[in-house]
Order: sequence, then C-alpha cells, then structure tokens
Amino acid sequence: RAKTQRRGGHFYFTRSMGEEIRTRVNMMHALRNGFRRGELFLVYQPQVCLAHGRAEGAEALLRWRTEDGSLVPPDRFIPIAEYSGLIIDIGAWVLREACAELVRLRAAGYADFMMSINVSQVQFRHPQFLAMLRRALDETGAPPRYVELEITESMAMEEPEVLVELLGEIKRTGVSIAIDDFGTGFSSLSHLQRLQVDRLKIDRTFVTEITGSARGSSIAQMVIQLGRNLGLSIVAEGVEDDRQARILHELGCPLGQGYLFAQPLAPQALLEWLAKDAART
Ligand code: C2E
Ligand code: MG
Ligand code: MG
Ligand code: MG
Repeated sequence: RAKTQRRGGHFYFTRSMGEEIRTRVNMMHALRNGFRRGELFLVYQPQVCLAHGRAEGAEALLRWRTEDGSLVPPDRFIPIAEYSGLIIDIGAWVLREACAELVRLRAAGYADFMMSINVSQVQFRHPQFLAMLRRALDETGAPPRYVELEITESMAMEEPEVLVELLGEIKRTGVSIAIDDFGTGFSSLSHLQRLQVDRLKIDRTFVTEITGSARGSSIAQMVIQLGRNLGLSIVAEGVEDDRQARILHELGCPLGQGYLFAQPLAPQALLEWLAKDAART
C-alpha cells in the first residue's frame, strides 16, 4: 500500500508510491494488450421475479482473463480503464457484445428477456456516448426496449441539467435506465423525480442487513416504497439466501439478483440455467 508522508506541509513521494504507480502503468499496458487479444469477456447474471422465481433478464458483467490464466475482478481493472481512457473502447465493445448476446437469446426463444449493461462515469460523459449506443443497437439489431443501462447513483446526481438532457436522448432511443447501487449515495429525491429513470437497484449492503433488526431493513423498505411511489421497477442486488428473498418479496420488491438464484454465467451456462428455470417455474 502506498503511503504519503507529510513533512512540513509537503507531500513526498515514497518508494511504495512509485511502485504503485509502476504497477498501475504495467496493468494499463497489460489491459490494452489483453483487450486487443480478446482477453475480456462478459458473463450474465439472471434477474429473477421474486414471486415466481422466473428470470426476466440478466446483467452483463465484465471479466478479464489474463494471459497467465488469472481472473482480474472488474473493481480492480475498471478504474485503470477509466483512468487511461481505455474504458471508451472497452465500453463500446461491452455495449455491442451485450446487445449481440441479447439477440442470440432472442433467437433461442427468450423473446421478452431484458439485458442490463453497466456504464462507467467516464464513458457516459463522453461526447460520442450516444452515437456508440446507437451504433451497438444498429449493428446488432438489438431491440432498444429490451436494453437497459445501469448508471450509479453518484452519476445520476451530477450536473442535473446536462444529465436530464442526456437521459432524455437515451430514452428516445427506446433504451431504459436503471440506477445502480441505490441507497449508497445521497440523491436528492426531487432530482430523482425529474430524471427519466425506469428502475432502482437496491444496493447489496441493504439486502444483507435486511434479515437483522427492523432498523436493518429500513433502507431497503424505504427504497422499495420510493420506487413504487414513483412508478419505478425495483431490483434487489446480492440476494444470497431464501430469507432475504422472502422478506424482499413481502416488502413489495418485484425482482432479485444474487447468488441464491445464480452466479454470473457464461453464455452457454446461462442458456442451460434458463432452460432449467423454464422447466421449474
Ligand atoms: P454492480 O454493477 O453493482 O454489479 C453487481 C456485483 O455484485 C457484481 O460484481 C456481481 O458479481 C456481484 N454479485 C452478484 N450477486 C451477488 C451476491 O449474491 N453476493 C455478492 N457478494 N456479490 C454478488 P462484479 O461482477 O465483480 O462487478 C463489480 C462491479 O464492476 C459492478 O458492480 C460494476 O460497477 C462494475 N462492472 C462490471 N461489469 C462492468 C462493465 O461492463 N462496465 C462497467 N463500466 N462496469 C462494470
Ligand atoms: Mg450493475
Ligand atoms: Mg450494483
Ligand atoms: Mg457496484
């Protein structure tokens, strides 16, 4: 871990800081090359109806398998992709790949299936973002009404005027918008109401707390109420056990996503999971 040493009001570069920067630069090169070589891929985690257990869509999640076979989690390489600007090309690829997978799922008979795609802050703010989105839709033939973009709560709260306009443009393509990790930021409720958002995703932290005290479930409860009052769809993230799923359902949350239902799955595994899901429900 890098530490800054403060002496007489100056920050000094310590050796470990130099190392950390070197590591970061190395990782940036590895990521750029890895992306070119096709080391990035998407996995898909089902989003399930809590009343019937049936999947109504999936979230695309990015993975990086490096040359030596190790798997780097997105929380580690996405910040580097953002920092280096690589996220623009990677993000455009993610959009196209997830849309292409949606088209394949539709061809396999899952006609009402939704595909949720994470969008990074840097990507979202890029002047060409809308063009990249349209291009992914056009090139793959993915129907916009089955595509959803996930933006984080902090992204949704920045520069209201610019954002309202951009969200309006996105909505005009037919693509819908979800706010990811909801409850972790500090959204203004009046601002939220102005945004043309379709769905809130309750952050995993609040789902974890739900089986504890009455107090523990209060944030999840509030988000569900808020979503319902605003006429929004709601997904609970990180549902890991039956009790959480039951309580969420009782609180009026329609959808859940988490290890209880399925891990993020490779395309073939998703198809197999969906076939079993259809047989079960
Ligand atoms: P997120 O969008 O909030 O995604 C949910 C994360 O929770 C995923 O982690 C998922 O694997 C994990 N998860 C799902 N169910 C459970 C559960 O029951 N328990 C626990 N403990 N975790 C669960 P993952 O795949 O490591 O992704 C981490 C974050 O990286 C994502 O958080 C998202 O912010 C970002 N990310 C992933 N893919 C992309 C992408 O294609 N583009 C961008 N910009 N960001 C991405
Ligand atoms: Mg997400
Ligand atoms: Mg999330
Ligand atoms: Mg997250």
